[in-house]
Formats: sequence, structure tokens, C-alpha cells
Amino acid sequence: MLNVAELDDGFAAHPQLDPCDDPGPRDACGVFGVWAPGEDVSKLTYYGLYALQHRGQESAGMAVSNGERITVVKDMGLVSQVFNEPALNSLRGHMAVGHCRYSTTGASVWSNAQPTFQGLQDGHSLALAHNGNLTNTDMLETWLREHSAAGDIPHKERMDSTSDTALLAALLAAFSTDGLAASARKVLPKLAGAFCLVFCNENALFAARDPQGIHPMVLGRLDNGWVVASESAALDIIGATFIREVEPGEFVTIDSDGLRSQRFADADPHGCLFEYVYLARPDSSISGRRVHLVRKEIGRTLAMEAAVDADLVIPTPESGTPSAIGYAEASGIPYGQGLVKNAYVGRTFIQPSQTIRQLGIRLKLNPIRDVIESKRLVVVDDSIVRGNTQRALVKMLREAGAAEVHVRIASPPVSWPCFFGIDFATRAELIAPGLSVEEICRSLGADTLAYISLEGLVASTGISKRRLCHACFSGEYPVRIPQARAVQLGLEDSNGCR
Ligand code: SF4
Repeated sequence: MLNVAELDDGFAAHPQLDPCDDPGPRDACGVFGVWAPGEDVSKLTYYGLYALQHRGQESAGMAVSNGERITVVKDMGLVSQVFNEPALNSLRGHMAVGHCRYSTTGASVWSNAQPTFQGLQDGHSLALAHNGNLTNTDMLETWLREHSAAGDIPHKERMDSTSDTALLAALLAAFSTDGLAASARKVLPKLAGAFCLVFCNENALFAARDPQGIHPMVLGRLDNGWVVASESAALDIIGATFIREVEPGEFVTIDSDGLRSQRFADADPHGCLFEYVYLARPDSSISGRRVHLVRKEIGRTLAMEAAVDADLVIPTPESGTPSAIGYAEASGIPYGQGLVKNAYVGRTFIQPSQTIRQLGIRLKLNPIRDVIESKRLVVVDDSIVRGNTQRALVKMLREAGAAEVHVRIASPPVSWPCFFGIDFATRAELIAPGLSVEEICRSLGADTLAYISLEGLVASTGISKRRLCHACFSGEYPVRIPQARAVQLGLEDSNGCR
């Protein structure tokens, strides 16, 4: 979540763009919700979150309702660290909301862990889980303050948490005199940016997805209930049947009367392109596309765009693996496993400090000398953010005897910040802006370097470019960002979109 405290002077305080600041939020949170009377909803939520652990590893939590009371358990750490058998057994009810979270280092605190709990004006309570970032928190805060001034709701200074999710919870509470559903119908149309929301009061489960549908969210069916989750893989893991995606701009209510759908905004789909490259699990589907197959197709396109004479194609495991397989198939160069990954070390993309990040590379990947010695290697990776991983990797492969190292990247250069929940680095930390591909290649110590083109990447998804967000590659944002930010970023017009 975006830290609201950092936005007090407007969006200009966003840490991603300030080279003096630490990297900002790194969210690709996972959200999960289940409504299933008679089922062990806390364990379903536990395993659902377990399946979504790759989307957020800093904190985890769940809220369980028994119809009279909502109980929230959350803490810092992995899902398996936060919950144990006795805790889950004590969480009895018919409905649950779960969350796993990334955040900035500074904001990675218990009070910002989710679900966020909030009392409502109708006497009920709210538990809220959010994936994404709101881009109009300044406007929303003003709206909230106007109502705070009337003394009918808590304002920001009295919130326990500083995240945009807490702001959202306060807004939902502000208008809840006629119930949570009525409040949501009033608040949801005012939100801008990326939001996949799962929330509940004591009696009903709700889900909503932003009009752009930037991050994925799916709806599944159990024999006697319903499930919503960030990714379809979470449905598979708990034995739920995939029904459909929660539509962009849709508001879903699930209670004892069944499932009802309403629209709070027209759909304007711009799904996150980076979900296909890296974020989502390969066994998930997004917009009807199997992520694993898309990644293989990306590799095939990359082989056609950036052929090289070599002996062996190896992936940077695991997210580079499908694209490496595709590259090998299309190029006719044999595929091999040249690196062993320690599955228990977090992905280096999310490590919070440079020191740990570099240590993490060595902890995570180890070359298999017998496979790579004297070989001309094509190394396929999903993306280059800072270049630290690839620089260490090339060095490691050369030390292990590789004759040549040709790096192929399954996404275009990451050159622009994401305002929708994914934090790569500050722009100053990104390696792509200001350097040519040749210069980056020299910096990595590789023999050659090539990225897939944006057109090639988009074509590999089978989705029209105008229905995707590709802003971190192109600087073309599908949602208006505040004008001060647009001007600072040097976007073509100053209205925040182009
Ligand atoms: S800017 Fe990049 S990471 Fe962010 S939502 Fe768009 S495609 Fe995804």
C-alpha cells in the first residue's frame, strides 16, 4: 500500500521518484475471501494465502466472522509464520477475508498489516484487504476531512494505520449509516488507481475491482460457498472451481441470499503487463490466458527478435524458466538447467536493502558447473530492474567456466515508475533510464544483451495493447496521475496521461 503519510504534500512526495529516498512500496499483495457456511473457512483462507504468498511476504492476516463478531489475526512474516494450528482452530465462522502484503521498509509495521478493521456507523464492523495503490489519496483525504469536520467519523490523525487502505476503511465507515454495501456504492466510484478489494461486515462478503482491472482477481465456487482471490491458482489449491474474473468496475456481494453483482464504473480494461512477465504464478490464468503459456510465447518471440549462435539456453529460475523453454524451442538450441535455486530464499526483487540483495543473489542461485562449462550460454531472465542480479549472475557463470554469456530479457527495459502497486526502485536506481542497451550490456559484463520489444511482448500475450497497462516500459499511464507528478516525469502533456 502507498503510505499516506508520504503524500501529505501531494503526490510529489512519492519516494519512488526521489533518488535520495529508499525504494518505495513494493506491493503486489494477495487478497482472498471465502463465504462458505459449514466449511473451515480459516483453513481455506490459510491455504489460499499460502498459494498467494509470492505476492506479499512481509505480513499476513485474516479476519473471520461468525455472524456476530469479526475476529482479526495478523502479524509480520510469512503466512506459515503468522498462523499455526491452534490459532486457526480458534478462528471459527462462516466467512473470512485474508491478505498477504509487501510494503516499504519503513511502513512494514504491524499497524499497516491487513485486514484493516474498522467500526461502522450502523453498529457493524468492517474488515478490509486491498491489493494495489490508490492514486488520488489527496482528494480522498480532503473528502474525508470534510466529513471529519462534521465530527461524524474519525479523521486521518486518529487512524491507527497510515496506509491508503486505512484511508479507504475510514471512508467506508464515514458513509455507513445505511450499511456497508450502501457506503461502498458511494465510495467506490470516487477511487482512482489500482484496487482489488475484499471486505466484509459480520454478515456479507464483498469484492470490488478497479475499472481498469489492473491487477487480477477471480471468482470461484465451492460446493457450498464462494471464493474470491487475487489469482486463479489460489482457487485450484483449495479445490474451488474457477467461475470467472471479477470484472473491472464490478462490485460483488455474497451473503445468505447468494451472489449479486453491480457495476460502479464502466470497464476500461488495462491489465498489468508485468503480471504476465513476472508477478503472477505460471499456473494462474489472467484474462483467459494461461500465464505459463504466455511466458513460453514471450520466449519464442524473444528468440525470433534476438537470435544468437550458442550451445545452451538456461533460465534464471524460476520466473525465467517458461520463457527460456520457449526461446530454446524456437531457436533449436538445447535447453538445460544451469542454475540451482534455493527455493527458500525470497525473490531478490523484493529484498529491502542493497547489501541483503547482493547477498541474496549468492544465497539463491548456484551454477551447475558440469552443465555450463565451456558452453556458449543464452541466459533468459524475466526483467532487469537494477541490474545487480544479472551482473552477479554473469560473473558467477564465467567463474564456473562458461565460454560466452548472452543475456536475453523477457520484458522491455523498465524505465518508468509504477503507481499501481508494483515498486521496482527509485527511477535513479533503475538501470535502463539514461543507458543504452550496449552500455547496460557492458555494465553486466555480458557478451551480448537483448530485450524483447514492447510490441513483441504485447503480441505474445494475445491481448490488444490498448487493453494493457505497459506504463513501466512506455511511460504511458492508463490512469491519470497527479499533474505535479506528470510534469516532474516529463510526460508529454501535463494532465498525467498520454
Ligand atoms: S506500470 Fe508496469 S507494473 Fe505497474 S501496473 Fe502498469 S504494467 Fe504493471
